[in-house]
Amino acid sequence: MTSFALHGIGVSGGIAIGRAQLVSHATLEVAHYTIPPGGADAEISRLEHAINDVRRELEGLYGEMTGGDAPAEFAALLDVHTMILNDPTLSETPKRIIAEQHCNAEWALTQQMSVLVDQFEQIEDAYLRERKADVVQIVERILKRLLGKPGAVRPGGAEQHTILVAHDLSPADVIQFKTHRYAGFLTDVGGPTSHTAIVARSLAVPAVVATHNARHLIRENELLILDGTNHVVIVNPDKSVLTEYRLKQGEHELGRAKLRRLVSKPATTIDGVAVELHANIELPDDLEQALDNGATGIGLFRSEFLYLNRLGQPSEDEQFEAYRRVAAGMDAQEVTIRTFDLGADKQNWALDGLARVAPNPALGLRAVRFCLAEPRLFLTQLRAILRASHYGKVRILVPMLASVGEIDQTLALLAQAKETLREQGVPFDSGIAVGGMIEVPAAVLAISSFLAKLDFVSIGTNDLIQYTLAVDRADDAVSHLYDPLHPAILRLIAMAIDGANKARVPIAVCGEMAGEVDLTRLLLGLGLRRLSMHPSHLLTIKQRVLTTDLGAIKAVVERIRRTDDPAKLASLLEKLNA
Ligand code: PEP
Ligand code: MG
Repeated sequence: MTSFALHGIGVSGGIAIGRAQLVSHATLEVAHYTIPPGGADAEISRLEHAINDVRRELEGLYGEMTGGDAPAEFAALLDVHTMILNDPTLSETPKRIIAEQHCNAEWALTQQMSVLVDQFEQIEDAYLRERKADVVQIVERILKRLLGKPGAVRPGGAEQHTILVAHDLSPADVIQFKTHRYAGFLTDVGGPTSHTAIVARSLAVPAVVATHNARHLIRENELLILDGTNHVVIVNPDKSVLTEYRLKQGEHELGRAKLRRLVSKPATTIDGVAVELHANIELPDDLEQALDNGATGIGLFRSEFLYLNRLGQPSEDEQFEAYRRVAAGMDAQEVTIRTFDLGADKQNWALDGLARVAPNPALGLRAVRFCLAEPRLFLTQLRAILRASHYGKVRILVPMLASVGEIDQTLALLAQAKETLREQGVPFDSGIAVGGMIEVPAAVLAISSFLAKLDFVSIGTNDLIQYTLAVDRADDAVSHLYDPLHPAILRLIAMAIDGANKARVPIAVCGEMAGEVDLTRLLLGLGLRRLSMHPSHLLTIKQRVLTTDLGAIKAVVERIRRTDDPAKLASLLEKLNA
C-alpha cells in the first residue's frame, strides 16, 4: 500500500490515528455498464437484496430510536424513509429499467432517482418539495449496499478509531456526531469558519477540511494519520512515521492534561486585569463541556441548532426547556442566547423553503432579517427565552444587525412577548439585557447608533471577515483570502472596541478569533476583556491570559494598530507572543 500525504486546512487541532470510513454523498459516483444476456434476473435480485437490507437497517434504527430518548422527530423521519423505500416507484420501477435496458442495478436506481427528484421539484408545496432530499438519502443507502459499503454513519464499537472521510458534511450531519466519539473528520471542501468546521471543533476532535479529493484517493478502512494542527493527512503511513505520530499524540495529550489544572483559576493577567472567558455552545448538552473547561458564562448559544435534523419547528415549550436547562445549569452566570441565525448554510425543511430559495443566502433573508419576516416564529422564540430568564441570568443576542431599525423592530416584538407573558402571569426577567452581534461592516461603521440602543455587543468575526473581504466563509476556493489579520479587519475590530469602551457598553468577541491563541494578546491589547469561544479552547486561552502583561505589550499593540504592512504585522505579532 503506497503511503501519501494530503494537505488541507486544519480546523481543529490535535492528532488522530484511525481507519477511514467513507461517508456517502449525493454525488456518489455510479458506473453504467451493460449486463450480459440472461443476467437481468440476477441483477434484479441483487437490487431486491439491497432494498431488503436497507429495510432491515431502518427497522433496526427505528428500534434504537424509539427505545432511547431520541426526539420523536427522528422516528417520524424514519417513517418517511420507510414509506419512500416501500413505494413501488422506487422499489419496482428500477427492476423494469434493468429488464428493459440491460443495465446494472446502480444505474437503474439512480436513473429512477433523477426522475423522482424532478417530479418532487415540480411540487408546489414547499414541505413536500423538500422531501426529495429524503429520496436521495434512501437511494444512497441502497447504493451503499449494492456497492458493498454498508453502514451509514452510525455508532459502532470502533468509532474511537475511525476517521470520517466525506466530500462535505453539513452542520446538520456533524451535529449528529456529537453523541459519537469519532477520532477525526476529513472533508474535500469547507473553510476554517464554515459552520461544519465550527461544530467539528466543538467536538474537540482533530479535523482537516478542503483536501479537495480525499474521498477519491482514500479507500475504506485505510490507516490514516490526521494532523489537524499542521493541516496534513498521511494515508497508509509506514511504521516509523506511525511511531513518530503516536509519540506526538502522547505529547499533545500530556499538554492537555497539564492545562486541566487551570480549570478553576480565574483568568487574570499578570498585571491584575480580569478577563471573562465564556463558551460558545450549539445545544444544551454542550453545557457539560463548557463547565468542564471552566467557562464563567455562555457567550453564544447558537439557538438555531435546535432546528436542525428534525421535521417541524421546535415548539415554545421545547425551546423553553432547552434554554431553561442552560440558564439553570450556569447558575447565576450569564447565558447569552442568540436568536435564530437561520438561513445561509443553516437550513431547515420546516421553514417552508423560505430562506433556501435565496440566490445568495449569506446576503439574503438570514438571521434577524428572517426572524423579522416571520414574526410568529420570532415571538415564539422570544417568549421561550423570556420564560427561561426566570431560571438564571439570561441575555438576548440578535444576529446580523445591519441597521438600527432592526433593533427597534426586535425590541417592539420583545415588548409584545413580555406583554403576553404578563397577561398570563408567567414570570420572567423584565430587565433582560438585549445585545447585538457586530458582524456586518455597517454595524461597526455606525456603531454609536447601535450602542445607544443595546445593553451589550458581541463581535462575530466569522461573518465580519466574510462580509468585509467579500469571501464566502464556506467556500474553500477562496479560503486563502479569508484573513483575520487583514488591516481592514483589525481596524474594524479596534473601532468597535474603542466605540463600545467609550460608551461603556460591554463588548465581547464570539467569532473564531476569540479562540485563536496567537490573537489573544492582540485582542486584550486592543481593549477587549470578554472572549467567547468553543469550550475546547478555553484552557489554552486562559493560559495565555495568565501569562500576559498588558502594560508590557502596550507599545507593540500600538505599532500593530498603525501598520498596514503584512510582513511587519507578522513580525510584531510574533514579538507580542514571544
Ligand atoms: C460569527 O459570525 O463570528 C459568529 C460568532 O456567528 P456564526 O459563526 O454562528 O455565524
Ligand atoms: Mg455570524
